[in-house]
Amino acid sequence: MYHRSPGYGCIEVVCGSMFSGKTEELLRRVKRAQIARQKVQVFKPVIDNRYSVDHVQSHNANKVASRPIEKARDILRFVDDNTRVVGIDEAQFFDEAVVEVAQKLAFRGIRVIVAGLDMDFRGQPFGPMPRLLAVAEDVTKLSAVCVVCGNPASRSQRIVPTGAAEADGGRIAVGGNEMYEARCRFCHEPDVIAANGTSSASGAPESAGGTE
Ligand code: ADP
Ligand code: MG
Ligand code: ZN
Repeated sequence: MYHRSPGYGCIEVVCGSMFSGKTEELLRRVKRAQIARQKVQVFKPVIDNRYSVDHVQSHNANKVASRPIEKARDILRFVDDNTRVVGIDEAQFFDEAVVEVAQKLAFRGIRVIVAGLDMDFRGQPFGPMPRLLAVAEDVTKLSAVCVVCGNPASRSQRIVPTGAAEADGGRIAVGGNEMYEARCRFCHEPDVIAANGTSSASGAPESAGGTE
C-alpha cells in the first residue's frame, strides 16, 4: 500500500458488496494508523445503528469507537486539529456533501479512508460513492462470497420484502444478514422481492413467449 510522509492528505475508498469486508478493512487501516501513534477519528451516519451507535463494527464483531453524524458537513466540525486520519464508514448513506468534506480534509493533509457500498441492492451506483471513487487516490474493491454458487460476490441481495414505510423506495433499509445476502452478478436478482418471497420481475411475465 501507500507509504506517506506526514501531512500527505489523500482519499482512499474501500468499496464492495455487503459482507465483502469493507468495515474489517477500514478497521485494519485504522488500527495500523493507531499503532503508528497517529490520531484517528471515525465517523458513520446516524442511520447505521445496526450494532451500536458509537462504534463501527464489522460482521465478525471487530470494532472501533466512532461518532454518529447526521449531515456529512458536521464531520468538519468534529475533526480535531491534531487528527491525521479520518475514517468514514457506510459512506453511501451520507449526502453528496461528503465528497466536498473528504476533499477538504485531504487538502488539509489528512488521510481520509472511506468505506461504503458501491451499489444498492438493485445493483445501481449508491449515493455519493461514484463521485468518491472518482476523486480518490486509491480504490480497493472487495468481493464477498456468493451464498448461491460460491463465486466471488459483487452484489447485495435483498431477501425480505420492501416495506412501505421505508424511505427512498426501500433503498435505504439498513440491515445485516437477516435482510441481505451476498451474491455474484449471475445469481443476483435486482427486482424487489414480493411479500410472498417471489421475485416480482419487472416487465417480463413468465407466460410471455417469443417476444423480445
Ligand atoms: P462489510 O462491511 O463489507 O459489510 P464486514 O467487514 O462487516 O463486511 O464483514 C465481513 C465478514 O463477514 C467476513 O470476514 C466474514 O466473516 C463475514 N461473512 C458473512 N457472510 C459472508 C459472505 N457471504 N461472504 C464473505 N464474508 C461473509
Ligand atoms: Mg460494513
Ligand atoms: Zn453466484
